[in-house]
Amino acid sequence: MDSSEYDVAIIGGGILGLSTAMQLSRRMPDKKVAVLEKETQLATHQTGHNSGVIHSGIYYRPGSWKSRFCVDGVQKLVQFCEENEIEYERCGKAIVATDPSELGRLQDLYDRGVANGVTGLEMIGPERLQEIEPHTFAVKALWSPQTGIVDYVKVASAYANRFQEAGGDVFTSAPVQAIHQSSGLTTVQTPGGDVRARHIINCAGLYADKIAEMAGEDTGVRILPFRGEYFTLRPESRHLVKGLIYPVPDPRFPFLGVHYTRNVYGQVEAGPNAVMALAREGYTKRDIKLGETLGAITYPGFWKMSMKHWKTGIGEMHRSYSKKVFVRDLQRLIPEIRSEDLVAGGSGVRAQAVARNGALLDDFNILTGRNAIHVLNAPSPGATSSLAIGEHIVEQAVQAFGFQD
Ligand SMILES: Cc1cc2nc3c(=O)[nH]c(=O)nc-3n(C[C@H](O)[C@H](O)[C@H](O)COP(=O)(O)OP(=O)(O)OC[C@H]3O[C@@H](n4cnc5c(N)ncnc54)[C@H](O)[C@@H]3O)c2cc1C
Repeated sequence: MDSSEYDVAIIGGGILGLSTAMQLSRRMPDKKVAVLEKETQLATHQTGHNSGVIHSGIYYRPGSWKSRFCVDGVQKLVQFCEENEIEYERCGKAIVATDPSELGRLQDLYDRGVANGVTGLEMIGPERLQEIEPHTFAVKALWSPQTGIVDYVKVASAYANRFQEAGGDVFTSAPVQAIHQSSGLTTVQTPGGDVRARHIINCAGLYADKIAEMAGEDTGVRILPFRGEYFTLRPESRHLVKGLIYPVPDPRFPFLGVHYTRNVYGQVEAGPNAVMALAREGYTKRDIKLGETLGAITYPGFWKMSMKHWKTGIGEMHRSYSKKVFVRDLQRLIPEIRSEDLVAGGSGVRAQAVARNGALLDDFNILTGRNAIHVLNAPSPGATSSLAIGEHIVEQAVQAFGFQD
């Protein structure tokens, strides 16, 4: 580990840490910046376990960070992919109302999308949907032609390459274990040695609250891990899905409901659900970390959240253990899908910040602390928004750290 002093140490080599690093090194070429990542490779957690969707900005409350970062981020991301020859595709997405009771919420989504400035949105009937997604059933659908797909690990590694070309240092296998601050200098401890930096930017995803705690911050939130499990369509059943098919989401819950996504490699995934994981990086039901589970269940926000959402929680658990229930939900979107079409797929774990009063933070949450910036909540569409969020963090750093352009 290089023991010299950095202007900024960024903790976390996921898509947000790397976007921030790349843009900081571009805007402030004289600053010495390092990225510290605990794994042997970059982008292995949320960035490497997501649906790969380039969201267009439909779902989010106008004026929220989500709507602003997503709508801005999608333009920047597409341009970055073009410039860096990263494969992406604007395959379009259909959000389908399968029951007349969902039509009001579908119309609300259309209105939100239009208010957010998403272009090309169309309300379509079953005939038009048949042309786009011939196997999907709907009373009505919202068609978003701008929604696309990309491999976010490729995007993140291109950010890392650009950052390193600009002189930045990336340290993998560097888990941050402690942070000490004294007289304007922060010492970040890793097993390979200490890194000294004037400022830190915490992009540690599933451990962002822990890193903030190490830096002496009382954030008022706890990250609770929500695993999303996927099934994969067998190659011979992939023809059932042309692009992206989503249900109308439940507005009380920050997740989008199980859906079908085709990825840039032609595979089709169905999911993800949302179940509490028993470890922050608990990718399977067998992954249990007692300390982390205890940390979650002794948090008052966990119980308040559970009281509020117990019905949904039990439903999600049931679906997680029963393929039959999972398939039944998927059949609402494609009636002819059968259990035999699906094989168990991968999973991802969402870092969901929960407040002490049990509220699931819906929007991005980025906090300025002592010589530090902490990204405390970066749910979907965090990957789509990565360039807009990175730009925002750099601006926040310029202001808070007193950097001169
Ligand atoms: C199931 C799922 C589906 C999603 N689908 C989409 C989608 O289709 N489109 C979209 O736009 N967004 C999607 N998202 C959201 C998106 O993936 C995230 O918003 C984004 O990846 C967040 O990036 P990040 O860099 O904050 O986190 P991460 O990618 O998790 O990176 C955090 C990094 O910090 C490192 N770290 C943690 N602790 C330490 C430590 N102590 N020391 C050093 N390093 C540490 C971790 O190893 C990790 O590499 C999805 C997320 C999930 C989980």
